[in-house]
Amino acid sequence: MATEILMPQLGLTMEEGEVTKWLKKEGDAVKAGEPIVEITTDKLTNEVNAEVDGTLIKIVAQEGEDIPVKGLLGYIGKAGETVGAAPAAAPAAAPAAAAPAAPAQPKKDTSIIVIGAGPGGYVAAIRASQLGAKVTVIDEKYLGGTCLNIGCIPTKCLLHSAELISEIKDQGKDIGVDVEGVKVNFPQVIKHKNEISHKLTSGIGGLFKANKIKHVEGTASFVDSKTLAVKSPDGKTENMTADAYVIATGSINAIPPIPGLKDNPNCIDSTGALSLEKLPKSMVVIGGGVIGLEIACAYAAFGTKITVVEALDHVLPMLDGDLTKIGVAHMKKMGIEFHLECPVQSVENSAVGAKVVCLDKKTNKEVSFEAEKVLVAVGRRPNTKSINLEAAGIENQKGRIVVNDQMQTNVPNIYAIGDCVLGKAQLAHTASAMGEVAVENIMGIPAVYDERTNPTCVYIEPEAASVGLTEEKAKELGIDYIVGKFPMSGNGKALIMNGGEGIVKIIAGKEYNEVLGMHIIGPRASDLICEGALAIEAELTVEDLIATIHSHPTVTEAMREAALDSLGRCIHMPNKKKK
Ligand code: FAD
Ligand code: NAD
Repeated sequence: MATEILMPQLGLTMEEGEVTKWLKKEGDAVKAGEPIVEITTDKLTNEVNAEVDGTLIKIVAQEGEDIPVKGLLGYIGKAGETVGAAPAAAPAAAPAAAAPAAPAQPKKDTSIIVIGAGPGGYVAAIRASQLGAKVTVIDEKYLGGTCLNIGCIPTKCLLHSAELISEIKDQGKDIGVDVEGVKVNFPQVIKHKNEISHKLTSGIGGLFKANKIKHVEGTASFVDSKTLAVKSPDGKTENMTADAYVIATGSINAIPPIPGLKDNPNCIDSTGALSLEKLPKSMVVIGGGVIGLEIACAYAAFGTKITVVEALDHVLPMLDGDLTKIGVAHMKKMGIEFHLECPVQSVENSAVGAKVVCLDKKTNKEVSFEAEKVLVAVGRRPNTKSINLEAAGIENQKGRIVVNDQMQTNVPNIYAIGDCVLGKAQLAHTASAMGEVAVENIMGIPAVYDERTNPTCVYIEPEAASVGLTEEKAKELGIDYIVGKFPMSGNGKALIMNGGEGIVKIIAGKEYNEVLGMHIIGPRASDLICEGALAIEAELTVEDLIATIHSHPTVTEAMREAALDSLGRCIHMPNKKKK
């Protein structure tokens, strides 16, 4: 039976390719592994190899045709064998000389109300205004949402102070910076954080003015799918209407129903931990997720004794396992104590502050930890209670709004973005990307939210960042892959910056070497990861990363070395493998 030659998927984002040149003609003998047809996407050119020995018995897709991924290109079979017409399922080829579609023109003067001024809402508003919409943003609390006021920026402020302290304490003497009596001025740490937040949030006010966006202070709630009731701080309620609505109301910290937790004033959430007046001597962190560990790292560097209790048998499940190992080892070196498989059962009062009682599943015994403060960081839930989704008939699961990839809800004039939507990462840049997609669709410019280039960054010490497939996920999906790794200890700049702690790991497809995932732990990993995201978006191969000259001395060189390692071509490390 003849073997189909199909359009391969050369990268995570590839949807179709053009048949640029057949390298064999019908009737030619071909050998498995031999290039038979050249294809081009909008980003790269590659050759498709024969999967089996035989004869190219039929060419189905002609040169110049655009064929979707998995579309039929031709058949290899026995000489003289015939094959029928292309199966009905084979996607039809586009006419070779089709005129390009005219770019969509934005619909001017559409009115849009955005509910929530976080990184989802304010970015959506600015993009909508650029496209000619009349935009109003309603927020009940602050410009900048969780991210700028009580989330990303405040935590990173604390972590920056913490990093400086750690560098001086841990590295100072060795690198010739001998500072006597380094200490934390904790009220100043908090003051600096507040100043940075304030600068950024007032910047958003300025951007709204520049873009002629109306800002209304108040709590919005749907009356029906076409009307919002907005209650202002003075208690007055006004009805407002628009052609389209974007819900961007974000999320709030989840408070688990653990007995004794709510009543204990020493149990705080991330917002509380970012505005303490005094540095606590000790802190139990419930939850070894992103919030728990970032705050744990900051306070551990300031000198607080940190104990993390986590229900699962591992922390930070979103990261590639190789990164987690290095991160956890460093956090242990900082003095952070981890108790895994220790779900919290209750919280009791104690003279110190609070006592956290857990069930240690490894021994099946009760264990307890006392501390001045207890940080509860067990996830975030959608902040949609006040918006009255039911009145507008918006489909949701426990408050998480169901959307399609255009960010549209089941009610055609209502879109939702960011932390309040179902099944997506709860990250600031995710919310912003969704915001742009939502308003472009409202304004008549087709756009879809595609999370394949969405990086995850965890600002622990050292920073960890990840984009695309982890090795664990590639295995789970049954993808044939190659791995390239390079330790930061072999990189001059990393050695200078943090003693060479960390690693770069690249996952690439085995056949075409296209980058499928990049994972970095080490200095400035959260900045470096964008090269991986770009590689995935542009369907680059490890050869493309290698062909790009990386500046010296920079940590970026470690990424090129990881790409070299995937082909057994490392320069700054002996090679054990050959592809
Ligand atoms: P939000 O930022 O939550 O904004 C929602 C806005 O809606 C708020 O201003 C709220 O007042 C308003 N609102 C709610 N209901 C109504 C209503 N009915 N009427 C009017 N207004 C309303 N993400 C990262 O990418 N990187 C990080 O480093 C990072 N660090 C974080 C650290 C912490 C401690 C926390 C808690 C979160 C962190 N996040 C981080 C997550 C990030 O903050 C969120 O993903 C992001 O803020 C979500 O944006 P959003 O626009 O969907 O919602
Ligand atoms: P999370 O889901 O990342 O982690 C919560 C952890 O708590 C999990 O590991 C869970 O197993 C554990 N847990 C739950 N119940 C428990 C119990 N009873 N006892 C012990 N452990 C328990 O949630 P988070 O850390 O609260 O963060 C919420 C979201 O905020 C993140 O998913 C992320 O999207 C966002 N965030 C992102 C960043 C960043 O991008 N750097 C930083 C902070 C927050």
